[in-house]
Amino acid sequence: MASKKKPDDLPIGYFITLTAKYYFSDELNAEQLSGIIKEKTLEFDLDNYQEYKYHNKITSTCEGLFIGSIDRRFKEREYIPIYDNEIKIISALPTDRQKKLMFTFLAVARYMDCDGWINKKTSKDISELFRLANVNLTSDKRNELLHELYINGHISFGKKVDNLNIRVKLDDSGDVVYKITNFENVGNQYIGNFKRGYKQCKMCGKVIKNTGNKKMYCNKCALDNELKSKKKWWDTH
Ligand SMILES: [Zn+2]
Repeated sequence: MASKKKPDDLPIGYFITLTAKYYFSDELNAEQLSGIIKEKTLEFDLDNYQEYKYHNKITSTCEGLFIGSIDRRFKEREYIPIYDNEIKIISALPTDRQKKLMFTFLAVARYMDCDGWINKKTSKDISELFRLANVNLTSDKRNELLHELYINGHISFGKKVDNLNIRVKLDDSGDVVYKITNFENVGNQYIGNFKRGYKQCKMCGKVIKNTGNKKMYCNKCALDNELKSKKKWWDTH
């Protein structure tokens, strides 16, 4: 908070929540806190921030903090938790692509902290979500996959028909079964940790077959490591 710079990848909604928690005090009321948030948010000079668009988010966040419906504790998120019930639903999906995508949607929605919504501005942002999910498809096939999840009730869309606003059902009622600490290869993290017989390369995140031995890297990274250690040996002898 001291540096006056918002990390590039932090969504504005999440930024508002963090700022509201940071300045929350019993000596203020919701309206005063909203005023402070607006002032502070302007000071940060965020890209794409227009106050009127976030007025409702700011007001509801401040009210939530005072009513107690939003957790007041200020905590830096070290990880995004995924819960048991969520994994159960994902595991029941018919294809790996659907599983990877749903897992990624849950992670992003929880990170955005906006009641299950994942709001994207352009179709490029949507491709970014698929990339994060390690699902490589043409845009037609991507829409097909979204439609499959939609007709089975796993996702819903915003009022606009552009598929850019996606909502998922978050369920944090059970135990945390996985912690996402790294927002890369999120889809592969699902396969590597929940699909029997697979794990992830410790270096590049690629999914590899779990052959039961202590293999930790994919073939490419294993070779790279070997070359590196040889080079190191030559450099030091
Ligand atoms: Zn690798």
